[in-house]
Amino acid sequence: MKTLITNANVLDMVGDIPNISKKDILICDSRISKIEENIQDNNIDEIINAKNMIVMPGLVNTHTHLAMSIFRGYKNDIKLIDWLENAIFPVEDKLEQDDIYWNSYLSCLEMIRSGTTTCNDMYFGMNRVIEALEKTGLRGVVAWCITDDSIRDKIERTREYAKIYNNREDSRIKIYVAAHSPYSCDPDTIKLCVDLAKELKTGIHTHLAETKDEEETIINRYGMAGTEYLNSLHVFDVPVVLAHGIYVSDKDIDILKSVKGGISHNPISNCKLSSGICDVVKLRNSGLNVGLGTDGIASTTTLDMFEEMRTASYLQKVNDASSSSMNSYELLKMATIEGAKVLGLDNDIGTLEVGKKADMIFIKTDKIHLCPENDICTNIVYSANGADVDTVIIDGKVIMQNRKMINLDEKEVMKQVRKIAKRLL
Ligand SMILES: [Zn+2]
Repeated sequence: MKTLITNANVLDMVGDIPNISKKDILICDSRISKIEENIQDNNIDEIINAKNMIVMPGLVNTHTHLAMSIFRGYKNDIKLIDWLENAIFPVEDKLEQDDIYWNSYLSCLEMIRSGTTTCNDMYFGMNRVIEALEKTGLRGVVAWCITDDSIRDKIERTREYAKIYNNREDSRIKIYVAAHSPYSCDPDTIKLCVDLAKELKTGIHTHLAETKDEEETIINRYGMAGTEYLNSLHVFDVPVVLAHGIYVSDKDIDILKSVKGGISHNPISNCKLSSGICDVVKLRNSGLNVGLGTDGIASTTTLDMFEEMRTASYLQKVNDASSSSMNSYELLKMATIEGAKVLGLDNDIGTLEVGKKADMIFIKTDKIHLCPENDICTNIVYSANGADVDTVIIDGKVIMQNRKMINLDEKEVMKQVRKIAKRLL
């Protein structure tokens, strides 16, 4: 299958300064085979005219709990501990396998509609999350959330799915091991997760230093901070995705700066749950990769990565009391290539380059709120939103075109999720 994209303003996200040029892009099956001016080829199956569009790499959401879409707008503005113990956990206990599928499916549709092409998910019922990713065509790193309960079963399920997906050359799904967090996993659980990740030659996805209270709990329990605790259990021997990383000391950063993978910064979740401000500038200056994530809808209410870029920028500017903390291009990098590095997928995605997977989005720029085009990157970060994404291509397949989903029944998904919400909430 050959698809030719013509008249594109290509923002390739390669290099340290923005490179935008008028090019055609030729996609052969799942990969980009040419990015040149006026590509001529007699065997094209489909031509897509990208006039008035910026074509850039698909966005990479480095931390999600897709099945939590059921909680959108449910019991907000209450204390974190009350919210978790009285609102979220009791409902999660009642979620059935089909609920996880439909809720994840809804999240996948929202991500596609707002330009995300890859996500990194941690939840229970990983098999049903994978089913939703397969159905919608998204790329995803998926992990079965492991805490101190029923560990053996979750480890066995992780092993089973890693064997299916991690050895497939063409797989859009990659299995990680999810140790939920240092405060919910005792040393034996963490050790089992590390052994499993080593055995499967994969990485670990965990929450780290999200709140001050949890850090204090870990210090009281083990006499060391969360980062030191994970380090003492050899977690950083394998690639890691560390969600949040707000309460990390200079000593912690010294440990973290050489990890494979990196931090997932979730600015809206951190604001909405009053968790605190992650010092992204400091972490990035130490050499750490920092990607962007939304967290679950329960804590953000949206999966729109444009909102995350914008909020990340505002938070750093307030945190540093400096309007030059991070520029728009750096924020776009965090949402694309740096996120890909955090997930260990940067050989395949995150930039538009010949040989890479054809994961890309078209942003329609012929709009009132994006006019004039003085600085494209700044317009994307500060003025655009998910609804400006016109077309989404993942793994060479057109998933959405002119904002119409191809072969996905959105009405049916909404009907199913409303039914689940009515039953459980
Ligand atoms: Zn989370």
